[in-house]
Amino acid sequence: MLQHQCHHKCYCQFIPPVILENLAKAGRGNAKLTIQQSKLSRAKRSEHLVPMTQFAGIAPPGQGPRIVYDCQNTWEQRVTQIRGEGGPATGDEAADKAYDYGGVVRDYFQSLGRNSIDNLGMDIILNVHFGVEYNNAFWDGDEMTFGDGDGVIFVNFARSLDVVAHELAHGVTEFTANLDYYSQSGALNEHFSDVFGSVITQYAHHQTADDADWLIGDEIMGPDLYGEALRCMSAPGTAYDNPILGKDVQPDHMKDYYDGLDDNQGVHINSGIPNKAFYLVAMDIGTDKAALIWYHALQNLWSTAIFNDAVQVIAESARILVKDGKVPPGSTQSVRSAFKAVGLPS
Ligand SMILES: [Zn+2]
Repeated sequence: MLQHQCHHKCYCQFIPPVILENLAKAGRGNAKLTIQQSKLSRAKRSEHLVPMTQFAGIAPPGQGPRIVYDCQNTWEQRVTQIRGEGGPATGDEAADKAYDYGGVVRDYFQSLGRNSIDNLGMDIILNVHFGVEYNNAFWDGDEMTFGDGDGVIFVNFARSLDVVAHELAHGVTEFTANLDYYSQSGALNEHFSDVFGSVITQYAHHQTADDADWLIGDEIMGPDLYGEALRCMSAPGTAYDNPILGKDVQPDHMKDYYDGLDDNQGVHINSGIPNKAFYLVAMDIGTDKAALIWYHALQNLWSTAIFNDAVQVIAESARILVKDGKVPPGSTQSVRSAFKAVGLPS
């Protein structure tokens, strides 16, 4: 079965397979093409993919320079370099937004003491205008790639900070916990990307947990879907409900846990459960403090970790950071209470 052929390396497409299937069924846009092209692209890349970690310790540390490539609406990555670190704006909105947002994400992680995605200053490669009306964006293990969207259902993916932050956070996860991309470890992988997608959006807009929208993917909705989103961290399961995308199936509690095989055993589905817990902690102690705890935990989790492991590690991270005076007293209990509210540990 497809699920068992999937390697456990994270290859995250922003628009999850559940929604792509619904788009195909509704006969909208180029969803079928998108699925096929994504698989082709994946097969193509995996042939010559060299893990960046192979060079760790050889290459001198960099500062995470951004390099933006225009794919010129082909299905190839890195076609023409149009902007490097410190270079002038190109006038191409997708390219300039990708550059700016890549910088915001890098700066945020730098504020946590992290040097680029791998903590060794690796280049931040941003490919824009990938494919034709391509309704997706992805992190493939060493770079980011954005489609333009079809302009009706989805608009340009590079124009959304939460898309860029979500995808680059997959890179950070790859170089830290390296959570296997299926079942509960995969849902945790998705969860951490949603956490940093929302946290970095709040950081950039100077928002607090109270005035954040807690939505993921709201900025890429085209005219036919304006007002919808892909996920809602504060109320998983309410992000969308329409004939084009179908209905949001994310659970917000372990009692509704999805145990089917779709979506790599529910990586974009069950992530709703820890997402809700993060939201509750952020509402209690503040988004920036909750993010410190989650980032600490990400560096202490491991590839096969399940939800119960995450609860334990995140609570332990909270305890350590309370002891260090980095987060307020009571944060450990806040973490336990939030997970208890979503049925964890189970
Ligand atoms: Zn993802």
